[in-house]
Amino acid sequence: MHSKLPHIGTSIFTVMSQLAVKHNAINLGQGFPDFPMSEALIDCVTEAMKAGGNQYAHTNGVPLLRERLAEKINFLYNININAETEITITPGGTYAIFSAFSTIIQPGDEVIIFEPAYDSYIPNITFNGGVVVPIALTYPSYAIPWDTLKAAITKKTTAILINTPHNPSGMVMTKEDILQLQEIVLANNLYLISDEVYEHLIYDNKQHESVMKYPELFARTFVCFSFGKTYHCTGWKLGYCVAPENLMKEYRKVHQFNAFSCDTPKQLGIAKHMQDKEAYVSLGNFYQEKRDHLRSLLATTKLKCIPSSGSYFESYSYADISNEPDKVFAERLVKEFGVAVIPMSAFYHDATDHKVIRLCFAKKVETLDAAAACLLKI
Ligand code: PMP
Ligand code: GLN
Repeated sequence: MHSKLPHIGTSIFTVMSQLAVKHNAINLGQGFPDFPMSEALIDCVTEAMKAGGNQYAHTNGVPLLRERLAEKINFLYNININAETEITITPGGTYAIFSAFSTIIQPGDEVIIFEPAYDSYIPNITFNGGVVVPIALTYPSYAIPWDTLKAAITKKTTAILINTPHNPSGMVMTKEDILQLQEIVLANNLYLISDEVYEHLIYDNKQHESVMKYPELFARTFVCFSFGKTYHCTGWKLGYCVAPENLMKEYRKVHQFNAFSCDTPKQLGIAKHMQDKEAYVSLGNFYQEKRDHLRSLLATTKLKCIPSSGSYFESYSYADISNEPDKVFAERLVKEFGVAVIPMSAFYHDATDHKVIRLCFAKKVETLDAAAACLLKI
């Protein structure tokens, strides 16, 4: 068969999770919580199913859920989003991002991404006929190199993708960052795709700077979210995209003949459950405790923490332990020490290897304790 993605292999998340199972290792690799989600939310979904909410939902999403999301956005960011015209519910955040690329990319268009990058971006852009222009974030701060970004823009540049809080590094963009970005996007008439799936997972009193707070920039942006992160249910694969009406109109043409609509009972259940603001307002503190717990457990090892301010993840340099390539080191950790992690080179198109591994701390305290006990033996 003539492959449309000849250079794409198996996702590192699948590879490392399979290795974890095979070697009976503790999985701090793929990002997902190992603790139970809210019983109350499960009850809301069950009730919706029992009440007959089991047929196709509205193609743009259950109207009540979109209303609730508009209210939430107003509460968090003090801006008005039109639930009718500016929000579309999607089968997950990845799909929301893919659809944004499908909406804007014409063959040969260049799209700028920052590396390390979440692993779906490159295949998404390529599949949609775009040309990926990767820019390396400065190591180890993972800050955006603004001059490199400006120099990378050509007549073919169509869009930039940002991700804040950032997976895998935990870097969080500041207001100044967004203003710099806005200048570049507007001056070059670009689109922006803003992956904000970790909007609530933000630490050390930092604030999430949603692009929605910047009206001129938002006018050119698709903002993508995932319910999986917010409600500890990554397996539900439900998310949404927020974009201004003129962009959303085109986006919905793509969505309409792809998924058409999303899981009805889960949308109804979340709409009901969303009245409880505490569930998302408390997430930052909840996860910061986990980050700090793992950090303190590993403080006496030779693994050097590269501080994260957001997301499920914190990275550690093992340069003081070994010179091995990060994939080899990660494989050895699974086989010899019983802990699965993600080698950071997997997030670079050219496998840049700074001798760094990514650890997921979205785990029960017992899991973090057990993983640290294994890592202390290195
Ligand atoms: N973007 C980033 C940066 C992520 O880490 C994830 C979660 N894997 C997603 C998007 C996709 O979320 P979903 O699982 O809802 O597709
Ligand atoms: N977002 C998760 C991570 O970065 C996993 C996503 C996936 O398995 N596709 O680990």
